[in-house]
Parts: sequence; C-alpha cells; structure tokens
Amino acid sequence: MDERVEGQILEEIFSHSEAYENLLVLADDIGSRVAGSAGEVAARDFLVETLERYGLDDVHTEAFPHRAWRPEREQLAVVGPVERELACRCAGLSPSTPEAGVEGEVVFLERCDQSELEENAERVRGRFVVAPYYPYARQLKTPLAARFGAVGLIEHRSYSGGLQPARTCVFARTGDMPVASISLEDAEYLRRLEARKGSVRLRLTLDSRIERKDSWNVVGQIEGTGGGDELLIAGGHYDTWHVGPGAIDNAAGVVAVLEAARGLIRYRQHLPRTVRFVLFGVEESGLVGAWAYTREHETELDDTILMINNDVGGRPSGLGLMGFGDLKPSLVEVAQRVRVEGGEGAEPFQVSVGGPGGWGSDHFPFVAHGVPAIGLGTESALPEDRFYGHTRADTAEKVYEQGLTECAAIDAQVLHHVANLPKRPAARKTQAQMEALFRDHDFTGTLELLDLWPPEHVKQRYFDIPDEL
Ligand SMILES: [Zn+2]
Repeated sequence: MDERVEGQILEEIFSHSEAYENLLVLADDIGSRVAGSAGEVAARDFLVETLERYGLDDVHTEAFPHRAWRPEREQLAVVGPVERELACRCAGLSPSTPEAGVEGEVVFLERCDQSELEENAERVRGRFVVAPYYPYARQLKTPLAARFGAVGLIEHRSYSGGLQPARTCVFARTGDMPVASISLEDAEYLRRLEARKGSVRLRLTLDSRIERKDSWNVVGQIEGTGGGDELLIAGGHYDTWHVGPGAIDNAAGVVAVLEAARGLIRYRQHLPRTVRFVLFGVEESGLVGAWAYTREHETELDDTILMINNDVGGRPSGLGLMGFGDLKPSLVEVAQRVRVEGGEGAEPFQVSVGGPGGWGSDHFPFVAHGVPAIGLGTESALPEDRFYGHTRADTAEKVYEQGLTECAAIDAQVLHHVANLPKRPAARKTQAQMEALFRDHDFTGTLELLDLWPPEHVKQRYFDIPDEL
C-alpha cells in the first residue's frame, strides 16, 4: 500500500466531492424511492448514469423479484370510552384487516419482548399491543406478539414531533397480524385516556397491497490490475419508505459509495484487486437486494475478501466488524490515518469487533454467508441528525454535509488498503463456524424469529415468490 497514493485519493475526494450534490438529486429531485415506485426506477437510472459517467467497468443492473408493498387505506380510531380518529401509518408488509376493521382493547408494553409478553400473557390475548419503536424492533415484536394472541400491534414513535414512522413488520413475507404506527403524542394521549377513563378500545382498518415485482441492484466495478479473482465490495441501499426522501437513511450512504468510486478510479492502476460498488434495492423490507446479490454471486463469495456497508449518514465514528476479528489489525492501521473533523465531545474514530448479530442492514446476508463484512458506523453530528429516520422529515437539511465526504474518504482508504494487502486479512467462515458464533452471541432465537437462517432457506423463501400473492 502506497501512502502517497492514498493521500492523492483523499485529496481528490476532499477537494472535488460531488457527494452533497448527488444527495440532493436523490433526496430532493427524486424523493421517496420506495421499492416498486417510479422514484425507485429514477434512482436506479441515476445511479447507473453516475457510475458510467465516473468511468467504472461493467456498470449494469441485476433484477430480482420481491414483495412490493403499498398502503391503500390506513385508519385508526379510538372507539371507547370516547370516539376519536388518530393518524396512523400501515407497517410495510402488514396484512390487511377485514373491511370493517379490527377492534380490541389496548395493552401498553415497554418492550414487547419475550419476557414482557410472558409476564402479561393474560392481558395481551385478544388485544392491541401499544409499544414504542425503540428499543425492540418491530420485526421481532410482530411475530412474538402474534404468538401471544394479540390482534394487532400499534407501535409509537420514540421521539416527539407528531410523526408516525414507517417500517416493515416482518422480513420478506406477509406479517402475522395487522401492524401500524402512531406518534408519541398520540400514545401519550391514549395512556392518559386509560388512566382517567378506563380501558381504551381501538379500531384499526388497513388495506395493504402486496404484489410480486422486480427491483434491481446497481453494480459497477474497478477491475483489479493483478488479474486474480479476489474482490472487495462497498455497498449501501438506495430504497426508502413511501413517506419521505430518506436523505440520511440512506441517500447519505449511497453518495458516500459513489464518491469513493469517483476518487478511486483515477488511481485504478494502484488497485491490484477488483473493487466492486453495489447499490442495493429493497433493503427496507428485508435486505432483499443484498440477499439477491449473495444468490446471484454465490460462486464469487469465496473470493470476496471484504464487504463494507454504508447505512445511515452522520459523523463517521468507527468501523464495526461483525464477528470478523481477524480483520482488526489491518483496519486499525487504516483507522489511524482517518480524517474526521471533531465535534463537541466527539469520540476518536475506532475499530470495534462486535458480534455477528447486526441483522438490520445489507451487510447481514454477507455475514450469514461467512463473508468478512463490516459497517461504517456514524453518529449524530447535528442536533437534528437522524431523529427523523423512516419519517417524511428525513430531509436534506438534516444531513451533515462534511460527513458524506468523510465517509467516502474512509471507504476509499479501507478499499485501497485492503486491495493492496499481500494476503487476504480474514478467511471466509463456514456455516458451522457461523452457527457457533451465533450461539456464542446468543443470537439464535433472534434469527429464528426473523426466519433468517440458514441462508439456503432464506433465499428460497425470499425469491420463490408465487405470481399471485
Ligand atoms: Zn437504511
């Protein structure tokens, strides 16, 4: 690895960054890019054009089928002891209710996890669970609460501001019961109502359409000069929810990947291994594009020596290694050279080895296949940063502009460094090794709830989709 070349790559990125302008195209000009929409197609085309304009090799799209979802009707009403309409958002992949809606009394929970549901089993049966967005994910609450006999899940936002967050209720299948979200303010109202006037009764009416459609990963690469088969991947998802333009989640990650590609290609003669850039479709409803990639490129996974995922923008805080501790020494070398502007109380950029249980973004399908994968972690740099994820307020003015370029520079540094290592830094893990790692990190139950194991089963259930759903 030539540090002089690395300096030139960083100079190119820091002085001519197109990251923010690209972000404005995605978030302002195109807006929502929910899977199955015209916005998604416009974003796909913009990404293809941009990678071609930057001069990447073999720029193309890779189609895959998925369960596209859209809400036609989203209604929630208090029907006792008073009558009142509340604003709600149908959860992605929620089933529809009968036309007249589903009615039930409410039980308030703090987590809606296994132990809280066991403690409240009597009260949950036949009722709507009302529980916060954080800390326990909707994709875990939904199957669990359904097992305990709830009639529906009403999830409320964890921050004030009157917004109802979008999110899928399960991964790549139809949910176990109707699920919708409300604002924190409306949840507080419901709690006060119960405290003052007794048991609250709700009626939820959802018309939720799920149909088989095609989406696309956008792929381009810089072919390595060494002629070998080993390759590295930098990726991030370009889809959003229907409600908003997904500026921080995840136009920010996409433009960092594009900018890393722009910076690296000028110095392509210094990349012995191939570096591939993959902008994933349909992350939000189940990391579907990333699973599709691992299916399409099964025979290349042995030679994929690193995948770096960019999801959610902000101030770069570190590289998270998802159980692949062997990567640490070489990434620590890179981390020491990283340039991140400080902020009040900002921690230095760090490399941490976590467990393999980060199931919430596109690195996971790679991890599940034993491919060494890492996430570029970010933290809030601005007070407004990231409190608006999955709402219509995740807009461009919330984006920490400097962070886009810093993330791009870090991607480029890591890719350049690892592409030049004499030997791959970490071996691919076998399925048995992954299972042992999942057991060690107490992750087996979560995988079962998410129905995300083993990989062969996941790809079959994701992609063998009947024409009529
Ligand atoms: Zn995201």
